[in-house]
Amino acid sequence: MRILGGGSNVIFSDAGFRGLVIRVATRGIELERETNHGSELRVQAGHEWDAFVEHCVRANLSGVECLSGIPGTAGGVPIQNVGAYGQEAKETIVSVRVYDRNAKSIISIPGTECEFGYRTSRFKHREAGRFIILDVLFALRNDSSPPRYPELITKMQDPAISGISPHPLAVRTAVLSLRKAKSMVHSAEDPDSISCGSFFTNPVLDAESLAKLEAKMKSSGLTMPRAYPDGHNFKVSAAFLVENAGFHKGLVRGGAGVSTKHALALINRGGTAADLLSLADEIKGEVLSRFGIQLEMEPEYIV
Ligand SMILES: Cc1cc2nc3c(=O)[nH]c(=O)nc-3n(C[C@H](O)[C@H](O)[C@H](O)COP(=O)(O)OP(=O)(O)OC[C@H]3O[C@@H](n4cnc5c(N)ncnc54)[C@H](O)[C@@H]3O)c2cc1C
Repeated sequence: MRILGGGSNVIFSDAGFRGLVIRVATRGIELERETNHGSELRVQAGHEWDAFVEHCVRANLSGVECLSGIPGTAGGVPIQNVGAYGQEAKETIVSVRVYDRNAKSIISIPGTECEFGYRTSRFKHREAGRFIILDVLFALRNDSSPPRYPELITKMQDPAISGISPHPLAVRTAVLSLRKAKSMVHSAEDPDSISCGSFFTNPVLDAESLAKLEAKMKSSGLTMPRAYPDGHNFKVSAAFLVENAGFHKGLVRGGAGVSTKHALALINRGGTAADLLSLADEIKGEVLSRFGIQLEMEPEYIV
């Protein structure tokens, strides 16, 4: 049995899946309670994620505006602790109400017990398949903090955006504009957007491994973009590794390819799942042999 939300982070094998697939299609947003700082909103798992973000932004509530334009459902969001432009879902998730298939009961799991990490949670790895997410409770704030992500900070200074009010709406407008420029908002007219978003997660290295990688890059005449701190570790740009392993933007391999706008987005050019996975394997092999880094796939392959 498989649970499906919007299907934006899964790849089905060409042979299909022999078994029951349940697509969660519940809808609705409810105000759970108002606090001194903002509001707690409960959103049904099947509700379109970006419609929820827009709802929050229009109500001048902040906390999820950087996650604008991410396809899929609200129930899919806790699975990999969705994140973008310096914001992660874990920062606002109060709790996740689930059906526990083992205990055959409905329970509420506090956000602090979801084991959220960079593109992961207990739902994605340790207990994959155990819980069906029914709804998610988010705590949104009345005040909004300034963006942290350099590219977004620059975009916010654009005269077409700097005059927009309220602040969460300005951030949403900036994020959607950045995402569209990278084909990271799905559109049937844009072949570069027929993807699962980022195909690989950014590798997380400790200080010693990072120093080794930087030395290796330097000896090849390459300067890596600054690694992003992640606790005691550092996040390295997977896109940089992919491009410098020889897989440039716009590369075509049969029915699959690399987006012309973003080296991390592998796109479906009318081919098969096998085409896509074969390109992914080729990239992983080359990055490993050139840089000693094992790339991890972000979407889930379902056989
Ligand atoms: C163009 C594009 C851009 C993207 N950009 C980003 C980004 O910036 N940041 C980011 O983090 N992700 C991004 N993604 C990935 C994806 O959109 C998110 O991971 C999204 O949250 C997946 O939601 P979904 O409903 O489509 O899940 P699906 O793809 O349907 O499912 C993904 C996994 O979640 C499980 N699942 C889904 N719903 C439930 C439920 N109710 N209960 C239990 N399990 C469930 C499924 O079983 C599966 O294991 C992008 C994808 C695309 C196509």
